Amino acid sequence: MDFPRYGDWSPTQFDSNIDIDRQDWLVMPVMQTRDSGPLDQSNFACFLEALGGESETVEVHRFGHWGPGWFEIIIIDPDDVAAQSVAYDCARALQDYPVLNDEDLSRRESEDERESWSTWAYKDFSRECEKELQYQADEFFGEPADPQQRWCKNWGMDIDVCGCGDCIETVDEWMADLVSKLDSLDTDKLYTLAKEFCGMEVEHHNDGPYFKYKIDLQGLIDGLEAIQVAGPAR
Ligand SMILES: [Zn+2]
Repeated sequence: MDFPRYGDWSPTQFDSNIDIDRQDWLVMPVMQTRDSGPLDQSNFACFLEALGGESETVEVHRFGHWGPGWFEIIIIDPDDVAAQSVAYDCARALQDYPVLNDEDLSRRESEDERESWSTWAYKDFSRECEKELQYQADEFFGEPADPQQRWCKNWGMDIDVCGCGDCIETVDEWMADLVSKLDSLDTDKLYTLAKEFCGMEVEHHNDGPYFKYKIDLQGLIDGLEAIQVAGPAR
């Protein structure tokens, strides 16, 4: 295996080489772009770390690009024999197995997962849960609530004796109560609901995590009852 000389290298066949006065330096087989996910970021960082980070003979260069916005490469001085030997070891390892450091990758993946969850994925999940509760409310509108749920949400008494006027008696009232419980959950609690009560599994792709869950009524009821609802009761 040979590393290409920087002077012979360009990011795609549609690009020309940008002269940075490093024509003889060697281009490492890892690259990251603005759009890189955890796998590329991890391999890039671990490759660089193995080379001892940036130095007189190891440089990271970032270029603007019409495709992914920017990309970064690592180049090394061909006179640094020790760095070249480390680079060959890493490159060979990557040929055998696509991850340089599993521990580093899984740490980045779980950060990416929590970040994606708390910025956008929780909204999809919450919307799906609400859809399921709304469906039940419409389908069984006015029908008596589950016999096991026929105790007052306010006072914990049997609704036949409570008489507070706000007892939950019908499926739609019950579902509305569950929706308001759902709405009061923060993103962490929604994560717990998804993971522990809706069987959520997360697949990691280079373009981001993919959240898979199965929402059913019983899971939602169990979860919403079990998870401590933040703040005072309605
Ligand atoms: Zn009551």
